[in-house]
Amino acid sequence: MTQVIRSSAELREKVATWKRSGMLVGVVPTMGALHDGHMSLVRAARKQSDRVIVTIFVNPMQFNNSDDLAKYPRDEAHDLALLETEGVDVLFAPGVEEVYPAGFATKVSVSGVSEPLEGAFRPGHFDGVATVVTKLFGMTQAGRAFFGEKDWQQLQVVRRMVADLNIPVRIIGCPTIREEDGLAMSSRNVRLSADERACAPLLHAELQKAAEAIRAGTPAAAALAAAQEALSAAGFGPWDYLEMRSAETLQPLDTPCEPARLLAAVGLGAVRMIDNIAV
Ligand code: AMP
Repeated sequence: MTQVIRSSAELREKVATWKRSGMLVGVVPTMGALHDGHMSLVRAARKQSDRVIVTIFVNPMQFNNSDDLAKYPRDEAHDLALLETEGVDVLFAPGVEEVYPAGFATKVSVSGVSEPLEGAFRPGHFDGVATVVTKLFGMTQAGRAFFGEKDWQQLQVVRRMVADLNIPVRIIGCPTIREEDGLAMSSRNVRLSADERACAPLLHAELQKAAEAIRAGTPAAAALAAAQEALSAAGFGPWDYLEMRSAETLQPLDTPCEPARLLAAVGLGAVRMIDNIAV
């Protein structure tokens, strides 16, 4: 049975009893509308921890667009049923007042790695992420936390923050889970029309093609321009970015002289799609 907990005081008591018997606690932070990408993190947590907490909190502080927040899919009953099948111990689903009570006045802000790409196009987004993740680490007292490579920059921001603030949690990055046609699973995919859904896998296909070309010696700028042209012709747009960056620092790279990542954010219909792959 997965126990649903909404108060951090109750969660703290539960975790304290686990820790007294020497158990390692793993946490998977999510915003709900769970799919197989989330469940892969849950399975990794199950394997690498004695007790697993999944958090579901649609964090208003990380949305820079009120429409996106309002339209974010929510289905807690369905999520809970999925978590039950994976043997998750606790679903921690606090309300907004529990996370941000009256008088709340603190913000965690990571510079450098959080500034380009998503940081530039979604002002305040990573402050919201860093703040809520810090709070979730404090509330769950977890020793391990599982994040998806789907949100590559977020993973690097969280790693930087945990190192900088000496937060006693180990961050585990997990590979992006895709549909059979290559589309990265995302809670927002349900908002694609049938035509958009049919065209959506092209994003991953073009990223792969560009990565192969770069590996074969094509200049990154040319490979990415070709990908952008093909995707725009297929109906993708407007573009936020399509770039090659250092995998760890997210600084711009012209050649893959260190571990490099291609990262994209682009509209498809009303949905903003993000994806990334290794070069
Ligand atoms: P979200 O609910 O979108 O905030 O995502 C919660 C966690 O699940 C984050 O660490 C995401 O990176 C991860 N995640 C989302 N989609 C996928 C996916 N397709 N594959 C792997 N992890 C994912």
